Amino acid sequence: MNEMPVMHESEGIVLFHPHVPARAIEEVTQVLHSRWIGQGPRVAQFETEFTQRFAGPGASIAVGSGTDALHLAYILAGLKSGDEVIVPVFTCTATNIPFLYMGVTVRFADVDPETLNINVNHVRELINEKTKAIVCVHYGGLPCDMDELQAIAKEYNVPIIEDAAHAPGATYKGKKVGEISEFTMFSFQAIKHITTGDGGMLTIQDKNLIPKAERIRWFGIDRSNKQKGTWENDITEVGYKYQMTDISAAMGLASLHEFDEILSHRQGLFEAYKTGLKGATGITLIGDHAPDRTHAAWLCTALVQKDRPGFMRMLRDKKIESSQVHYRNDRYSIFGGRRDDLPNMDAVEENYIVLPLHTKMTVENVKYICDVIKKGW
Ligand SMILES: *Cc1c(COP(=O)(O)O)cnc(C)c1O
Repeated sequence: MNEMPVMHESEGIVLFHPHVPARAIEEVTQVLHSRWIGQGPRVAQFETEFTQRFAGPGASIAVGSGTDALHLAYILAGLKSGDEVIVPVFTCTATNIPFLYMGVTVRFADVDPETLNINVNHVRELINEKTKAIVCVHYGGLPCDMDELQAIAKEYNVPIIEDAAHAPGATYKGKKVGEISEFTMFSFQAIKHITTGDGGMLTIQDKNLIPKAERIRWFGIDRSNKQKGTWENDITEVGYKYQMTDISAAMGLASLHEFDEILSHRQGLFEAYKTGLKGATGITLIGDHAPDRTHAAWLCTALVQKDRPGFMRMLRDKKIESSQVHYRNDRYSIFGGRRDDLPNMDAVEENYIVLPLHTKMTVENVKYICDVIKKGW
């Protein structure tokens, strides 16, 4: 992995920082000198290597963003206008916005107070004959209760779509996130573990869906037929312009090749927060104990017992950035207004806060942040 530069003094400790390997610059330069800069051999190679690393016996489809990958998954899951889906209320809007493109009704499930992941008991209360899929997000990088979700999904015969934007490299009971459910989405947006500027990957366990996924990614056209240069290209289903470029894939491959270092660096920082905040009063970490799963350490989220604005101000005075990052989705008007059946979300809404975690940081930086926090606010 490339050298970890010390944070610039004047900037302080920022919340996020993109991770761009030195090799990515070389690889992108090579692509720019080649004949293929759009979707070409690098995209295929990225998909193959991504599958080897994350998708078990499944396959991977590279697209232009994580949101594209989710929309694609929702289409492949057969969802259509008028259907209902159960979704997490606490996530990036990217998880739920594609349902609005499709006219699918979202039913928001509450959070688990310990992890801020989807609350399995609430999923069980919400599910009914109209439910056509369950979506979960592994918040911060800690996998959801997949056995329990799968039991419910099986009973109602609906697919699970995992939003693993925070969770590449996470495992659940020895299984890799990416090989557990029928569909798993990964994001390569600027501040994710692996970045391609913007980009996404959908891992799919049923390989029979791959040809359709490839068509939907490209207007609905069968690309290999089109490349013959003759008319064999009627479009019979509406597709999108969702493909990844070789420029992006070159970046993605470079990060994939140093993924072990990226992941362990992030996990080391998360551990340092755990150690550093042990015994601290008024603050608890989210998702810091789950022996049957590993945390991919994308976010370090804490609950502060009092005065979050004061806590953030105190950190800002010490040049430490903090943020809420995601907001409960029912706060956004497009989703139809605030729900009143989400008591756990209500309880943490004014208390959660995300602390800096990225590969430009050192364990020393985390110790410093923890010492500042322990002085109180
Ligand atoms: C980043 C992210 C996405 C995908 O976002 P894109 O910017 O479209 O790649 C989806 N869900 C969550 C939870 C995310 O954090």
